[in-house]
Amino acid sequence: MTDDRRYARPRNKLVEQLREKGVKDERVLMAIGKIPRHTLIDTALHGKAYHDTALPIGMGQTISQPYTVAVQTELLEIQQGDKILEIGTGSAYQCMVLCEMGADVFSVERHTELYHRAKEALRKQGYRAMLKAGDGTLGWSTYAPYDGIVVTAGAPVVPNDLIAQLNIGGRLVIPVGDNKKQMMLKITRISETEYEQVELDNFKFVPLIGEKGWKG
Ligand code: SAH
Repeated sequence: MTDDRRYARPRNKLVEQLREKGVKDERVLMAIGKIPRHTLIDTALHGKAYHDTALPIGMGQTISQPYTVAVQTELLEIQQGDKILEIGTGSAYQCMVLCEMGADVFSVERHTELYHRAKEALRKQGYRAMLKAGDGTLGWSTYAPYDGIVVTAGAPVVPNDLIAQLNIGGRLVIPVGDNKKQMMLKITRISETEYEQVELDNFKFVPLIGEKGWKG
């Protein structure tokens, strides 16, 4: 049996669980149903690849919980061809979901080793995204503005560079809080100078470390 066939059943089960937990966007569920999450983690953890939990990926970092990835992706309200910036490439799981949704994806990771691994993982699975090793709290000005920015690590405050790199109508999805829990914020740029902020549920992320984040 091929790897993909072996994991088809647990992956479908995961999608059903996410639906039961309230994820409604069928395009997001379909994307999650396609990503081979097991290929992004150590083989010793393959039995848990399609559990709805975060898992270690080395360097003290984690592959996000699928539910969290689904919620953040839903909040981005992605349309085909949208330019999306992700801060915290990690395993490239969220990155692959964004690619599956038809977005034009840019992603920044501060750990060089994870950046290299993510690049290879994307290539192997045939996904195309622009990756960069660096401090994502400063955004990625070269390709700005973005239709959506998603931060996949917990920030102490909203970094102003990220706000500045949003297109008019663009959405920034970012967890903000202390080291125990973070509130998911969705900030929409209404005009050149106006923003609208919605506060959602609490989540638990690894820290966003950088110039406009936590000190490393
Ligand atoms: N989106 C990832 C989640 C990885 S966890 C996934 O789907 O697997 C968050 C990641 O953010 C970690 O890899 C961490 O190294 C990275 N990170 C933390 N601070 C960062 C910063 N300032 N810039 C870029 N990446 C950062």
